[in-house]
Amino acid sequence: MAANIPARVRFAPSPTGHMHLGSARTALYDYLLARQTGGQFVLRIEDTDRKRFVPGAEQELMDGMSWLGLEWDEGPDKGGPYGPYRQTERREIYQEYAQKLIQSGHAYYCFCTPERLEQMRQEQQHRKESPHYDGTCRRIDPDEAARRVANGERHVIRFKTPREGTTTVVDHLRGAITVDNERIDDYILVKSDGLALYHLAAAVDDHLMQITHVIRGSEWLPTFPLHGLIQRAFGWQEPVWVHLSVFLKPSGKGKMSKRESSELIKDGYSVFVKDLESLGYLPEGVVNWISLMGWSYDDHTEFFDMASLVEKFSLDKLNPSPAAINFTKLDYFNGLHIRALSQADLAQRIRPYFVEQGYVVDDQRLYQIVPLIRERLTTLDDAVAFAGFFFKSDLQPVPEELVGKDLSVVQSLEVLRRSLAILAPLPDVRLETLEPLMREYVDNSGLKAGQVFGILRVAITGQKVSPPLFESIEIVGKAKVQERLEQAIHLLEVLAADGVER
Ligand code: GLU
Repeated sequence: MAANIPARVRFAPSPTGHMHLGSARTALYDYLLARQTGGQFVLRIEDTDRKRFVPGAEQELMDGMSWLGLEWDEGPDKGGPYGPYRQTERREIYQEYAQKLIQSGHAYYCFCTPERLEQMRQEQQHRKESPHYDGTCRRIDPDEAARRVANGERHVIRFKTPREGTTTVVDHLRGAITVDNERIDDYILVKSDGLALYHLAAAVDDHLMQITHVIRGSEWLPTFPLHGLIQRAFGWQEPVWVHLSVFLKPSGKGKMSKRESSELIKDGYSVFVKDLESLGYLPEGVVNWISLMGWSYDDHTEFFDMASLVEKFSLDKLNPSPAAINFTKLDYFNGLHIRALSQADLAQRIRPYFVEQGYVVDDQRLYQIVPLIRERLTTLDDAVAFAGFFFKSDLQPVPEELVGKDLSVVQSLEVLRRSLAILAPLPDVRLETLEPLMREYVDNSGLKAGQVFGILRVAITGQKVSPPLFESIEIVGKAKVQERLEQAIHLLEVLAADGVER
């Protein structure tokens, strides 16, 4: 389908757990195609599997999509001309279409009991056959089957897969896929509780919702021929089918297990969208990262914001090969997008991380800090580790860290006392005022700049790594700097009195 025909695409998640990066990528590609073609992006909740239903998962999906900036046009919360958009609210629609298939001879009632099916499964396993339905109820006369259903006999509805010939379906990325029909099972379309399963529900919805492109995970490739058959049984025009690449663990060896996924957070990473914000990732960074997990524009352009993705995205450039999840790349893209923000925007984005840690944030000071730290941030919460000291009234430096590299306690004390003596009479501690005097002192002292400034850094910031020292001193202000130097002197005096010589 040409890119300029408005696409109607749907993101059709099942609310069965946390929103995974894979789902986020599917939703992103849907969104991009819809926006690029001036079409619509539909959110459809596929909640027919009640056993796997997780309360709250639907909300989490919507929150995740909103956070990523993937606004949908139609959905359970927004309504739209093709609703309802939750499959459990469409039960009667599926019943009606299942009946159509029965009437046209493409589906049949099956009365086999769970016990019989289990026995059949075991026998097949014994014969080393792959599990499949043996077709017993295909042979029941349709009138008799209808009578048994009318009598209330427990039943499911199965698709009547042709026994002969082959079926060919076309995936946009992989081309034609042909399978022997005898290898396609008579899948259940409607369960005994009357609820349709995915195979029927998705086909009916995609048709009624006028979906032009089905973009979904490649776990649906094995049943893809069945889906083609169902569409054809109804005589419908098939959508463009796009099965995306699989995500592999960072090593590239296999898929990430549940346990591996939940343990990632210890390293500051996650495959769940809900965690990425608190870990300090920008939605822009995440979007850029996932956009390139299975798609590329050319072989060198890496930086994309949403507008450029909308412009440049193309289904033809999707890559079906499995993609290893590379968190180093996530950090890289996050850094790029942090540095692409305006200072005011970045200040607003880092603010909540300080507040969360209990800091009382002075906005004016926050704005002053941003230029000092923006180059160093990988994640937004790094700002707290680098710059939290700006908002602390009391620092508790580790006394031993106040001892300069290769210096004694007494030598370090001397550095602090001299620095205080230089600073105290100055009218202010601006960079231009203080730095030349301190550099002059270093030159005359015979010490290395790193030794002197290392001591001052710990005394004034409480940390060994900090934003540039003199810029920081200027922001902390003379009174506080003086106070912190005096405190550091006191701490080293105690250390010296305790006889600690290093
Ligand atoms: N509910 C299906 C899933 O979550 C959606 C597959 C599709 O997009 O058709 O895997």
